[in-house]
Amino acid sequence: MKPVLTKLAALAIWALAATAAHAQPKLPAPNFPTFTNAAEVKARCDAGLKGARQRVGQLEKRKVDAGWLAAYDDLTIFLEDNQGPTDFVLNVHPDKAVRDAAQACSLRWADFGSSLGQNEKVYRALQKAPKTDGIDAELVRLASGQFEDSGVALPKAKRERAKQILDQLTELDQQFNKNIRDAGTRVAFTEAELKGVPASVWDKAKRDDQGRILLGVDYPSYVPVMRSAESSEARERMWRAKTNEGGQPNLDLLARIVTLRGEYAKLFGFDNYVDFNLRRQMAKDGATATRFLDSVTGAVNARENTELQELRADKARHLGAPLEQTKVERWDATFYSERVKLQKFSVDQNAFRPYFPPQASLEFALHVIEKMMGVKYERIANKLWHDEAQTYVVSDTTSGQPIAQLYVDLYPRDGKYNHAAVWPLRGSATRVGRTPVAALVVNFDRNGLTLDEVETLLHELGHAVHVDLSKTRYAATAGTSVMHDFVEAPSQMLEDWVYDKQVLKLMQEVCPTCKPVPDAMVEQAKAAKHYGKGGQFGRQHLYASYDITLHQQAKPEPMPLWARMEGATPLGYVPGTMFPAGFAHIAGGYGAGYYGYLWSLVVAMDLRTAFAADKLSADVGKRYREQVLGQGAQKPEPELVKDFLGRESNSQAFFDYLKK
Ligand SMILES: [Zn+2]
Repeated sequence: MKPVLTKLAALAIWALAATAAHAQPKLPAPNFPTFTNAAEVKARCDAGLKGARQRVGQLEKRKVDAGWLAAYDDLTIFLEDNQGPTDFVLNVHPDKAVRDAAQACSLRWADFGSSLGQNEKVYRALQKAPKTDGIDAELVRLASGQFEDSGVALPKAKRERAKQILDQLTELDQQFNKNIRDAGTRVAFTEAELKGVPASVWDKAKRDDQGRILLGVDYPSYVPVMRSAESSEARERMWRAKTNEGGQPNLDLLARIVTLRGEYAKLFGFDNYVDFNLRRQMAKDGATATRFLDSVTGAVNARENTELQELRADKARHLGAPLEQTKVERWDATFYSERVKLQKFSVDQNAFRPYFPPQASLEFALHVIEKMMGVKYERIANKLWHDEAQTYVVSDTTSGQPIAQLYVDLYPRDGKYNHAAVWPLRGSATRVGRTPVAALVVNFDRNGLTLDEVETLLHELGHAVHVDLSKTRYAATAGTSVMHDFVEAPSQMLEDWVYDKQVLKLMQEVCPTCKPVPDAMVEQAKAAKHYGKGGQFGRQHLYASYDITLHQQAKPEPMPLWARMEGATPLGYVPGTMFPAGFAHIAGGYGAGYYGYLWSLVVAMDLRTAFAADKLSADVGKRYREQVLGQGAQKPEPELVKDFLGRESNSQAFFDYLKK
């Protein structure tokens, strides 16, 4: 349950990102296009689109025989290989000209994708394609749903409008993210104002002409200031800068995005986008998702209020002010929550950094997967989009065969995507020996990770492993192409691993010179996390409810609704701030789907029960790899969970945890 995401298919599978050559590579070859300049992006774009159109033409004319589904999947693979790298590098390439060219190309691919989604000839052939088993049937069912969601079965006028809307949505979402990525926001602080913040966070930062330190709002700067700056004014300034990321232009974009989605749903006869979007997810409709969210509120409300009273008492003590005149502000919450955790549980997240150097932490996380899943990660030399980006080859330990690749981009830089995410660059397809590739992008402090950040790393690696250990017949149903209210489950399951002493001991196997993190520190962090559940779930609940309510509004007004909903929470709304302007999840693929983080967590906690005795169990891990990760979306998600657990999934572990 992290404020992070994987980039996943929105409405059509060809909106998926991906990379590589179709000529069945036995060994995952280093083949990522590095894009040295904008002209190269344009040339690849032209060639890719031309090739894609030819292939669609061939598929339209092809006889609908036993080989048709494979031919259809060949097209998916071609799109992954040609569209995918462009969609990805626009988020990470160090050269702005390349990012801009990739963004322009990405719009052309979106136009191509929405046309393909409405291609009647291909859709009809898909309906008629011979199926040999359940895997074929599932591909037809999922792909048909994607065509239908793209408007292929609508009357002509509605279909044309649907395409216009899809293309506009892609463009508006891109613009929304670009406004955040390229804003280059800097906040100026004197050294005195940064009292309490570790010097390593700011001593190398640029300064303005008055000698003030300039910090960005990226996580390695933002989080330490919010956690540790003694100065309330400094925290407030940083918090406001972050909370206003995207600004009024993004609020306008969000209103247009949500309005267009509402119109889109109406083309299909739905009252609102929530019911349209959820009908193919586990939740099925908005009412079910809302009922679920209500049950979460019921379980955490009292806890959130109790926690807040403790923060208030601590603030009064800290400032020597009378309790009745003390109010906890938004920019106080993290700071006092850290103080209370320090007092109650002796936990200081910054104190974990020396134990978790970034590179060793990555190798540790990979080693956890090695132990659990029977694989081996080996770093190889390979030129990628940036000199610091790394390539790992994943091999199966039993066969010794290479089965996948993983790219990792660890550190922040200007113009880089500023959250943590995984891109499924290439899906597995056993029918042609196609091996998967995932790209993991995070923004860590070079001085080391907090335990929270190690948790984020494991979460993201969970997505990458879902991509890389997939062994599906078709690329179109590979890895993370599962339902969006399931996709977080494998990642969330692993978050809990960082609180396990036995798991943490693996750090010394990859980094013998790293000092072992003391057991007591981990125990305390675990207790503190448990303690902070009220605030944490309260916030997730707000995001999810806001997303659903906004998408149910007849005339969406992102700011008034946010002010009202955040205003109803214990910490209230701060006039002049605009959180939704930076809420990239719901402008993009998680629109009307943010509840999926909480929904997936129910599944994740149920999955964890199988590892209760031993989180590193190679036996359980092997079954998990085969029965859940390996299957991608080629079986319905509830069946995957049932196969693995040997029973129907239920929410008992989740609600036990909330109430504990
Ligand atoms: Zn995630």
